[in-house]
Amino acid sequence: MKQTFACGHRGRGKYCHACAATEKKKADTLRAREERRAATQRSTATDPIDLSIVRHLKSVQREARDLLAKVSSGVHPFSLDGKFIKSSAGKLLSVPVGRSYRLLFDAPSLMPLRLVSHEDYNGIAAKRVAA
Ligand SMILES: [Zn+2]
Repeated sequence: MKQTFACGHRGRGKYCHACAATEKKKADTLRAREERRAATQRSTATDPIDLSIVRHLKSVQREARDLLAKVSSGVHPFSLDGKFIKSSAGKLLSVPVGRSYRLLFDAPSLMPLRLVSHEDYNGIAAKRVAA
């Protein structure tokens, strides 16, 4: 027979199934969030450069990772719409990531250097000197 539990819900059994279901959902949500966080930390740990400026833009982050993986596997930045820029930091290669970001590589070694926003990029490229 039905009874009223301490929480105010009515139901059968030794405990409130409505509250138990709510608690389970809460726990599942927390666990899922923890798992996502752990997965993010794992992939962040293997990123060759810091991608935290696009932490909130998952598709940009994915594209940046994809481009980094391609370059490290031997795809030349030129075939990824990359171009040379000269900056005070030396010769760089810039590869567009989405509309607003650029990946910068060291030109001779193709070592990834930084992910920069379009604004940062303009600042860097403005320092470019005549070839
Ligand atoms: Zn309840």
